[in-house]
Amino acid sequence: MIELKDIKKSYSRGVEELMILKGVSLSIAQGEFVAIVGPSGSGKSTLMNTIGLLDVPTSGTYMLDGVATENMKDDDLATLRNRKIGFIFQQFNLLPRLTAIENVELPMIYYGTSKKERRERSQRMLEMLGMGERSHHKPSELSGGQQQRVAIARALAIGPSLLLADEPTGALDSKTGQEVLELMLHLNEIGNTIVLITHDLHIAENAKRIVTIRDGLIVSDTLNGSPPQHSPESEPAGATI
Ligand code: ATP
Ligand code: MG
Repeated sequence: MIELKDIKKSYSRGVEELMILKGVSLSIAQGEFVAIVGPSGSGKSTLMNTIGLLDVPTSGTYMLDGVATENMKDDDLATLRNRKIGFIFQQFNLLPRLTAIENVELPMIYYGTSKKERRERSQRMLEMLGMGERSHHKPSELSGGQQQRVAIARALAIGPSLLLADEPTGALDSKTGQEVLELMLHLNEIGNTIVLITHDLHIAENAKRIVTIRDGLIVSDTLNGSPPQHSPESEPAGATI
């Protein structure tokens, strides 16, 4: 469902051209749970922004569910993004004035889903994530782990084909982080494709596949418990598994 080929991303800093992604090729099939790990500054979030259609690469091609995204207009990219991708961030990004259920309803408003259906669907999502009783609380009345559950419910509300999480446990203590991780594992078991970006190797170890990025390149791509599938010198990284 995700097919990145030779993605490069550079930023200009003064006269200098700063290459952040230096030719990343990666395929992710539907139903996978992939962790992307690597040191700070290695390009993980830049890669996530590319996969999430939040940012356009300098060169290379990206197919999402069979749709070629290069040369697409901004509006079309936004439509594709809103239809296909649920985002989960380190800082939850909930709107503070809205209740939990109103936050979950928000993305559905853009789809013209009826008010009644939005409410029912959101309540179901919150219940699935163990937040049914807290649906009328504001974010400030919830713990970090609870806020992240609401954010996950919101990401799931539109039935995305991909859940993209950038350091979802980064702001949580290790026990709460573990709970959020277990939730994501469960969501994967019931069919969700998940790409999880994390610093934390203990978290990454739970993924079925671990992709390591260093200095803008994929340096290893392993199935959990298996030896590396390929090195960057061999075929393009990330043949579909
Ligand atoms: P961390 O683990 O700290 O979150 P990361 O692997 O997610 O790091 P990125 O955020 O992808 O790293 O950043 C990689 C490099 O790209 C960094 O050196 C960063 O300063 C640079 N960078 C990211 N976004 C921009 C931008 N919009 N303009 C210029 N440089 C940028
Ligand atoms: Mg980052």
